[in-house]
Amino acid sequence: MYVASVTESEVRATLETMFDLANLEHGQQGDHGDATGDDPRSVLESAGFSRATEASAASVQRLAQRIESMLPFLRELPDLDIDSAAAKLNAELTEIPITPSIVDHGGVGPHIHWTPPTARFDDQVMADILMALAQEICDNGTIRFGRCGADDCDRLFYDATRNRSKRFCSDPRCASRTHTADHRARRRDT
Ligand SMILES: [Zn+2]
Ligand SMILES: [Zn+2]
Repeated sequence: MYVASVTESEVRATLETMFDLANLEHGQQGDHGDATGDDPRSVLESAGFSRATEASAASVQRLAQRIESMLPFLRELPDLDIDSAAAKLNAELTEIPITPSIVDHGGVGPHIHWTPPTARFDDQVMADILMALAQEICDNGTIRFGRCGADDCDRLFYDATRNRSKRFCSDPRCASRTHTADHRARRRDT
């Protein structure tokens, strides 16, 4: 059985990590506040990417730059239909040398990577991310991709709720200040 980014929970975890990294590149704090830290390496470490601790600074930096270069695509994802999302993602997938391999590291036992055992860390993580995006688009289209509804927040998120009811990023201030503003607007109307 494949381990890399096929089960629903792994797709979810990988896409949430991708958005945490993307939100860092926006100059926003991590979607989950202090728990994920505020630099790419600590985001990856807390998300369980066991190679993150020993990855070279250059590799972590390249990964951050690659996510940043995908930001325009990630920002428009919620508005794309499946065909357009698939076409754009297919273009990104050509950048990854996908050659599956069985690896055993990090104390989790043998598992499958999309990349060879010698792959650079950023190639391995980008392969995980792009394959999770591919799996998600095949399973659910683009309906679970969202942008925070608060006026001055640019964060992107993956909506894992059952009824897809997520409107704001995980920063509680975004939901609360928007509700306060709505309430004030209503009071002015009456
Ligand atoms: Zn691994
Ligand atoms: Zn927000």
